[in-house]
Amino acid sequence: MSFFMEIAEEDIRRERNRARELRKSAWWKNRIAQGFCHYCGGTFKPSELTLDHIVPVARGGRSSKGNCVPACKECNNKKKNLLPMEWEEYLENLRRDDS
Ligand SMILES: [Zn+2]
Repeated sequence: MSFFMEIAEEDIRRERNRARELRKSAWWKNRIAQGFCHYCGGTFKPSELTLDHIVPVARGGRSSKGNCVPACKECNNKKKNLLPMEWEEYLENLRRDDS
């Protein structure tokens, strides 16, 4: 295992731990209480919203307030299953539906 890989794994572990802490914070409880999915803009119960990293932790994203948003299960699943390009297209389509 290379030196750089060890650093990356350590970063990922740290950011995942931070996300766990962030989920317990008043800031996060307030975000999900508002009930909006960051991506599709739909309204959901707080229990239906999950914490999503805009830039995934595995790709170097941080568990910062700017990178963590509430996402409904559908958007979350789509983001997980789609390629980054396909996910961009999905977001484009959502924006188009709004106008
Ligand atoms: Zn959504």
